[in-house]
Parts: sequence; structure tokens; C-alpha cells
Amino acid sequence: MRIDILTLFPDTLGDVLSESILGRAQERGYISIEAHQIRDYTANKQNQVDDYPYGGGRGAIMQADPLYRCWEAVCDEAGGAVHTVYLSPCGHTFKQADAIRLSKLDNLILVCGHYEGIDERVLEEVVTDYVSIGDYVLTGGELPALVMMDAISRFVPGVLNNEESAEFDSFHDNLLEYPQYSRPEEWHGKKVPEVLLSGHHANVDKWRREQSIIRTAKWRP
Ligand code: SAM
Repeated sequence: MRIDILTLFPDTLGDVLSESILGRAQERGYISIEAHQIRDYTANKQNQVDDYPYGGGRGAIMQADPLYRCWEAVCDEAGGAVHTVYLSPCGHTFKQADAIRLSKLDNLILVCGHYEGIDERVLEEVVTDYVSIGDYVLTGGELPALVMMDAISRFVPGVLNNEESAEFDSFHDNLLEYPQYSRPEEWHGKKVPEVLLSGHHANVDKWRREQSIIRTAKWRP
């Protein structure tokens, strides 16, 4: 899978992309992620990408043309129009099901807004999906793009090994994950539940499912 990020701040994505699971997945060729500087696609000497909002009001708006040219260049390279997500607080809230759906695409473009947003006319032409990561407003779309890429890449075949499998994570089966324990057997006077030490796999599975149901009912009914 290939993910292209259109942004005014490509450097802010650096470390997260090159470390841990995302870094390893790229090294091994399961995913490739590239950030594109929208400012490189301006047609003016000052490389200006924003201007005042028509109708008045605070802040600046990202202009249509540089973003459109940047998007077009990425699509040309991909050989056609690519599924394009605009990260926006106005979008539908990103869920695990979206991560699974988007992980099946060969190509995906993520558009990161900045300032007060982006000229609506270019959004109408390029955006397939408007996605929010939650009901709060961030400064730019870069952190939401990282959140989405991390969640999506977990479902790209080969990215997680068997031990890290997403199959038992929270949201699988619409349930939250059961409590987990590691050594030592007793810590601060608290013992690991007996059943987990029993070696009886069926009982362990049954206990874990019950705990998932209890936790989901309590925390996310
Ligand atoms: N004026 C916009 C509004 O009220 O909806 C907010 C603009 S915000 C300061 C700048 C950019 O950050 C947005 O264009 C978007 O790309 C990104 N952003 C902010 N909050 C977000 C969220 N919750 N989910 C996804 N993207 C977000």
C-alpha cells in the first residue's frame, strides 16, 4: 500500500514514520509513505499558500491552486485519481472499521489542512472522504494523518507479525480488550488472576471473553 500525505509541514511527520512498526513496515516494503510539501506547488515568487477569507473573519485560508497541483502530481504518478481523505474536524469520526476499509486500498492520499482550513472549491474536486479523529480542534492535519496511518497500517498484510496480530485488540468483535498481566505473579500485593496461571486454554479464553464483555459494558456501553 502507498500513502501520500499533502502537507505544509512534512518535517513534523519524520520520527513517527521512521520508527517502530511503521518504520519496519516501510523497510520491508509492505507500505510506502511519502510526504509532499504543498508549498512547492505554488506559482508565485513568495511561495504563498494562504490568503484572507472572502466575507471577512479571522485567520487565513489555504488557497485552492497549490493544493490542487500537488494532488494532481501525486495522482499522475499513481496513474489516476486516488482515494483522497481530507482530515477535518467536520468529517465523520475515524473508527477501526475505517482503518480496515482503507487498508484494502493500493493508494491513499491524506490532505492535511492548516490555518482556518482550505478553499472549499478544491475540496469539492479532490476529496473522497472527510475524516475527523475526534471532536476537538487541532492546529493542523499532520497529527490526525499520523493517527490514521498508524491504525490503517496495522491491517496491511505483513505489517504486524503473529504475536502483534490486530485480531485480539480492542474493537475486534465490538468488544474492548480484556485486562493483561505479565511477570511477576504478585506486585504491590495484587496477584495475577488464578485462571491465567492454570495453563487451561479453554478456561483462559472464556475468562478473557467475560472480562471483555464486563469492561465494554462498564466503559463503553
Ligand atoms: N476552522 C476549522 C474548523 O473550525 O473546522 C479548523 C481548522 S484547524 C485549526 C486546521 C486543520 O487542522 C484542519 O484543516 C484539519 O486539517 C486539521 N484538524 C484539526 N482538528 C482536526 C480533527 N479533530 N480531526 C482531523 N483533522 C483536524
